[in-house]
Amino acid sequence: MDLQSPETFVSLFLEIRKKTQSGHLILGGAGIKLSNVAVSVVTPSSLQLKVAEHVQNIELPEGVRIVPSSCQKLQHFAADNLCLRFQVHTENNAEFSPTVLESMRAQKRYTFYCQSCKEVIISQWEFIRVLPLPSGGWNDVVGEWCCHPDPFAGRKLLPRENDCLLGDTFLLVESGSFCDSVIWEPRTDLKKDKSLPTDVIGSISKGKENTTIFCKHCKSILGEAASQETAKLYITELIILPAFEEISKIELDHRSQFVESFVARRLAELSDAKSIFRFSLEGLEGTVFALLWLLNSDTLLVGCFRNLTCDSISNVAGENTLNSSQQTSYEARSAVKVLYQPCVQNENGNVINIWENDIGVHSLTLPTQTCSEVLQILSSSTLSLPSSLRSMNSFQVAFLRL
Ligand SMILES: [Zn+2]
Repeated sequence: MDLQSPETFVSLFLEIRKKTQSGHLILGGAGIKLSNVAVSVVTPSSLQLKVAEHVQNIELPEGVRIVPSSCQKLQHFAADNLCLRFQVHTENNAEFSPTVLESMRAQKRYTFYCQSCKEVIISQWEFIRVLPLPSGGWNDVVGEWCCHPDPFAGRKLLPRENDCLLGDTFLLVESGSFCDSVIWEPRTDLKKDKSLPTDVIGSISKGKENTTIFCKHCKSILGEAASQETAKLYITELIILPAFEEISKIELDHRSQFVESFVARRLAELSDAKSIFRFSLEGLEGTVFALLWLLNSDTLLVGCFRNLTCDSISNVAGENTLNSSQQTSYEARSAVKVLYQPCVQNENGNVINIWENDIGVHSLTLPTQTCSEVLQILSSSTLSLPSSLRSMNSFQVAFLRL
């Protein structure tokens, strides 16, 4: 059978779990039948895929070795996919690099850039104290524990001069640290709200509460005012680097990879630190965009993850090297696996209500535009998976690369 013909177009998906030391290979494509496909272990670090008389070697990522005796038979998997399960040994247990919310330290100099246009927002600033804020529901917890009125009721935790306070998705800094590259403006929804007298809008603007903070250069939203002198800056809208460190190519060019990696690492960090696995993704106005359930953070994805059509096999055909044995190394990426439900247009009102009243669910707030980007990233990941892996109960499945 000719690999050029559409009947033998093979798609490949391989998930390796470091904790369970297991591998799950799924093959798809119109020409995939148990009768014309064979997968065998050539060496502990490579598998051989044979479709009719054509052969393709799949190199596993460095540090991953198959236990040959564990390879089960190729089996039918859901619709028209085939699957193979096996055990692996992984030596590569490297942790992912922490987000700046975990790695930032006092008495070191940092420069904050606007993520969109790379304008410097805070230049080589040294914070005397860098402190984590208590998690979102701390006021409720204090209320539960106090036998007298909550002493912190109505009080905000705000940074002093040269403090940087770290939240789940944002940091609080004093306005004195800014360069002249941000604009503080009352929220546009307030401006448009005709029911509010202009003097009220004026006083809100003056008080800097309900005020959005924009990059002066590209007008991107960076955060909002937390008080008259305090900015709440969202970490997805900034690049924060130790002074004199250069911005990497990925941070420079790929907004969607930057957001994907931040959300993935933050979910993994919060679940590690606080044993939280369920999250609601919320916009600044409190709109719930998605319910997220972190399933695991130890996945290594191998193969044509984004584009499931297996380019290498079609290339073999294109180069007229049919019948020859080909060796392919696929890029392996660490990823977190999540279940999610999009909540736009209030489709899942009931589930949102149940999750909202569940103290085990943690809210993650990001600017509205960024929430939409996260939803797009999730749905594009889902679409790239074999159809049989795309949903679980009433949730959709996605992988976010770390
Ligand atoms: Zn900008």
